[in-house]
This record gives sequence, C-alpha cells and structure tokens, in this order.
Amino acid sequence: MADRYDAVVVGSGPNGLAAAITLAQAGRSVVVFEAASTIGGGMRSAELTLPGFVHDVCSAIHPLAKASPFFAGLGLERHGLEWIEPPVQLAHPLDDGSAALVWRDLEQTAAGLEGDGAAYRRLIGPTVRGWNGLIGDVLAPFHIPLQPARAFRLARFGLDALQPARWLVRSLREPQARGLFAGAAAHSMLRLGEPISGAAGIIFLSSTHAVGWPIAARGSSHLADALSAVLHEAGGEVVTDRRIEALEELPPHRAVLFDVTPKQLLAITGAHFRDGYANRLRSYRYGPGIFKVDLALDGPIPWRNPAVAEAGTVHLGGTFEEIAAGETAVSRGRMPERPFVLLAQHSLFDASRAPEGKHTVWAYCHVPNGSTEDASEKIINQIERFAPGVRDRIIGRHVMGPAALEAYDANYVGGDINGGRQDLGQLFTRPGIRIDPYSTPDPALFICSSSTPPGGGVHGMCGHHAARSALRGVLR
Ligand SMILES: Cc1cc2nc3c(=O)[nH]c(=O)nc-3n(C[C@H](O)[C@H](O)[C@H](O)COP(=O)(O)OP(=O)(O)OC[C@H]3O[C@@H](n4cnc5c(N)ncnc54)[C@H](O)[C@@H]3O)c2cc1C
Repeated sequence: MADRYDAVVVGSGPNGLAAAITLAQAGRSVVVFEAASTIGGGMRSAELTLPGFVHDVCSAIHPLAKASPFFAGLGLERHGLEWIEPPVQLAHPLDDGSAALVWRDLEQTAAGLEGDGAAYRRLIGPTVRGWNGLIGDVLAPFHIPLQPARAFRLARFGLDALQPARWLVRSLREPQARGLFAGAAAHSMLRLGEPISGAAGIIFLSSTHAVGWPIAARGSSHLADALSAVLHEAGGEVVTDRRIEALEELPPHRAVLFDVTPKQLLAITGAHFRDGYANRLRSYRYGPGIFKVDLALDGPIPWRNPAVAEAGTVHLGGTFEEIAAGETAVSRGRMPERPFVLLAQHSLFDASRAPEGKHTVWAYCHVPNGSTEDASEKIINQIERFAPGVRDRIIGRHVMGPAALEAYDANYVGGDINGGRQDLGQLFTRPGIRIDPYSTPDPALFICSSSTPPGGGVHGMCGHHAARSALRGVLR
C-alpha cells in the first residue's frame, strides 16, 4: 500500500469498482477498501446449496450491465467475462398453461402476444428503436441534453415512463401481455398505481429486445473479476476484509468515494456533516426488502408449459391484478399469500453451474422492509403452481431474508436491494436534493452507490458519474 492516494473508494460493488476504474484510468492513484473477504458486492457467486452447484448470491440477470455505456467501453470480455443469452429472454406463465414469451426479436414477441401484438409494439417499440441514443441519458443523473434530437427522445420516453404501470397497461387487453408488463414494472418495487412505476416496465421490456437479459458464464462473480482486472491494469489497488467504520481509518487522500447507502455514510462520518445534509441522509427512505431462495434440483423445473424452459428468467405472479395487489400489500408492510416471484434457471444454459443432470434455481420475492417472515414456502408454492412436481426435485435449499442479506452486504438495508426507494420523490434526487447528487457539503467526500442516480442494478453508472464529479472538482 502507498502512503497517500488521490482517492479512496469504500466498497467494491459494481459502483465502487466503476468509480475506482474511472479514476485510475484518468491517472489518479486509487485504493478500494472492501469489508468482505471477496470483492464484488452484489456480483458474487458461491456454492450455496451443495458442492458443485454454483449460485449467484445476489445479481443473476444482467440487462443493465449489458446496457451500461461505461461497462461497454471496458473490454471486459478480454478479462474472461462471457455473456450467455438464453433463447427466450423472459417468460411469464399463467394458470391456464399459456405463457407470454419475450424473444430478443420484438416482432417475434409481438406475434406471440396475438391480440396485444400491435399495442405491445406501440408501448415498447419507440424505446427499443431509440435505445442506443437514449440509454446513456436514462442511466445518468437528471439532465436535459443539449442536442435537440436527444432531448426529444428523452422527453418522449419520460412522458410514458413517468406514468403508473396501471395507466400504461390500459392499452393491453389479454392477461398474458398485461401480466408480462406487470412483472417487468414490479422490478421498480413500487405500487403499480404509483407514478414512475411504468418506467421499469418500459426499460426492462425494451432491454430484452435491445441488449437481451444475459447471465454471466460460470457466475456473476466473473463480472466482478473482470472489473477488478481492469482496475488493476489501470494501476488501482484493492484491500479486502477491511470494513471502514470512521473517516480516521482512511489513509491520507484527496477524495473519498463511498459505495455505501446513507445509513452507513452517517455512521462512518459521525458528526462530520452539519445538520442540513445529515438530516437529509437521516430522512432518506428505504424500499421493500426481498427474500431469496436458492435451490439445487435433481432435474430441470417441470414447467407445465414446456416453452418456459427456454427462458433464462421467469416471472411468477399470474395476472396484472394479482401482481399489483401483492406489490401494494408489500409496500404497506403486509406479506401477500402469493407474492410475485422472480426466478432464474441458469444451469439450463450454463452447464458449469451444476453437476450433469442437476440444476440450480435462483428465486426471490418482495417482502416488507426488515420482514422476519420465512417466505421460502410461499416462493416454492408459486413455482409449484406453474411447475407441478418441482418440490419433489429439491435436493438442496439455501435461504436469505432481509437480515441475512444486510449481514452479507451492509448496503441491503432491511433487505432493500436498490439502495433506497426509487419513487418519484427519490429517483432523481437520491440521496437528497443537490445539483450534483454525488457531492456532499465536504468537497472531498462523495457518495457513489446505488443510493445515487440512476439507482439500483448492476451497471456501475452511479460510480462512474460520481468519479467524474470528483474529477471535475477536488481531483481536477
Ligand atoms: C438477491 C439480489 C438479487 C439481485 N438481482 C439483480 C439482478 O439480477 N440484476 C441486477 O442488475 N441487479 C440485481 N440486484 C441488485 C444489485 O446487486 C445492486 O443494485 C448493486 O449491486 C448495487 O451496487 P453498489 O455498488 O451500489 O452496491 P453493492 O453491490 O451492494 O456493493 C457495496 C459493497 O460495499 C461494501 N461495503 C459496505 N459498507 C462498507 C464499509 N463500511 N467498508 C467497506 N466496505 C463496505 C459491501 O460489502 C459491498 O461489497 C440484486 C441484489 C440482490 C441482493
């Protein structure tokens, strides 16, 4: 370790690593301190159930990483990252045995939605067609682009995205397309009648066609490893097993970038910030939590509709109305009997994830923040509902509720995987209202986690933008 660094980054999640890479590639000396014994935050993989079964501990499906303009420029494939794209990006089965199937091709998907094909094309098509010119402006702090074409595209997207999912779905008639949109919108973890809940529906469905919903071959930890290799190549250093609890623990530096959420930032900085900013951090709101189950199976999931086995990701929650009711219950602090479940079946497409003939299942549902209820049976019941007999194939099980997730990674406060609620009042102005959301009243301290724009997910754009803010300021 050196005696002095231009920048110290606290936390090695995708945003911490993106911040460190941005700074190191700009010629600044950087060290990253990570509390856990391995790097990666939400990008780790482990044999959670049985030997030979590789599960993604947190993130598992990577449309946002694939879409990230910052990651795209790093050449991560040179460092062993390999994306695997299942033939069907996303499946949404219903009780009658039918399923909405989302293919990479928009037209093929629309054709499968029969009566709703044209409406789906109208809802998703403009964002898919404008994707390359739009995504950099969406995965960024709030701004108005100077070029008229870009500004128009962003405004056009915003008109739809600001709406509640419940309004946007009015153009769809059949339960397949309506359920499909509900599942994508539920990634927002908002009530589907809330403003801006439609944004997740549009972005996530558009991303299936624009970039796909890939998995990382051999596990999400290979994305973390590739980022770490780029950082080391640029001269950055990483120290693991080092939880930072106070500013005084840091080596001499010109700037610190915190890949932590407001709760930890307050604990680390103590009385450093005056009341105004400290109060803003204190009043920051966290969203619902999640409850996760990883399963080892002695065969594939026996889907009632065999086409669902072609999909990397499966949304289990039935109709729009059922998913909307479940998300409303969760946001009001109640656990629904049939929660909306997000499921991924990696081993069908990546043989390295399980012994021959065996399979992995990654699944979670939304729960009230800090919930202590064991939701694993409710999750398994939802899988069984669309795949009768799956229960008999379970040979290993690993569960993580909100408390376990927060113990694993302190950023998952109460099980919230997005670093704070992403509603209209907090999506653009996280962690508080400031012209530069990454800055703090101390010009040497920055926040770079998913508690800053553009928010949750593995894309690294919060870290990249925070580092650019430091490079415009104290690290100029
Ligand atoms: C179960 C689960 C499933 C998910 N699925 C997906 C998915 O499929 N796709 C997707 O895009 N996103 C997914 N996410 C969300 C995604 O993982 C997060 O939004 C993303 O990792 C946030 O990145 P970050 O860098 O802000 O924070 P994190 O990835 O949480 O990283 C923060 C890092 O900082 C470290 N740290 C915290 N405090 C300190 C301290 N005081 N000192 C030192 N180190 C510290 C932590 O140990 C951690 O390594 C999922 C998350 C979970 C938990």
